[in-house]
Amino acid sequence: MIEILSRTELGRAKEAGALVANILHALKGRATVGTNLLDIDRWAKSMILEAGAVSCYVDYAPSFGRGPFGHYICTGVNDAVLHGLPTDYELADGDLLTLDLAVVKDGIAADSAISFIVGESKPPESVAMIEATERALRAGIAAARPGARIGDLSYAIGSVLSEAGYPVNTEFGGHGIGSTMHQDPHVPNMGRPGRGYKLRPGLLLALEPWVMADTAQLVTDADGWTLRSATGCRTAHSEHTIAITNDGAEILTLPTLVS
Ligand code: MG
Ligand code: MG
Repeated sequence: MIEILSRTELGRAKEAGALVANILHALKGRATVGTNLLDIDRWAKSMILEAGAVSCYVDYAPSFGRGPFGHYICTGVNDAVLHGLPTDYELADGDLLTLDLAVVKDGIAADSAISFIVGESKPPESVAMIEATERALRAGIAAARPGARIGDLSYAIGSVLSEAGYPVNTEFGGHGIGSTMHQDPHVPNMGRPGRGYKLRPGLLLALEPWVMADTAQLVTDADGWTLRSATGCRTAHSEHTIAITNDGAEILTLPTLVS
């Protein structure tokens, strides 16, 4: 299903997007050396509930998981890149942490992910990987406008990731979003320009380039959720929810509160 939002719904989408971004920004500020991933999950829970929003994750039970996710945020450390189930782990200096959050506020969902390095050490390969996903995300957003096709966005994203030297996995990528978190169209992180669904104003997309340093192959933890690089290499992931507007695209998941 592909949803086209009304002007009123778009207003709600902006509120949902700002909420997701503000929560991620606050959690990034609190995620320091020694922070437990389960505490990050608890903080996310209280911020979501306090805002009167609904988690997209707690009861999420797609075919690939082992029952409902049961947590409020995805936390991926180092080789964990997607669907990271929060565990009883304390962050160490130099860890590469990915936080991925989606909520529904007043009936509309927003979805965003950030990767960053915890503590003082800044391993250059990790910094480069994070920057590549952020650059690819910006390229995908720049290609998004009415009349553009999904393949144009995929090509823009994939070109940046490939030129930066990373293998690209096309099993998991971006997606339409609206009254629910995951909708059509799928937005692979690699594609051919001029192909696929033609974008229209009012369409919401979550674009999410992610990479693993030296492989495109994933392995799944015994919990059925956390996806890691098959080689144990580090990984990074950047995601924004955007709205297609009359003349381009607007990023909905930028923080509006400075804390
Ligand atoms: Mg996400
Ligand atoms: Mg997403």
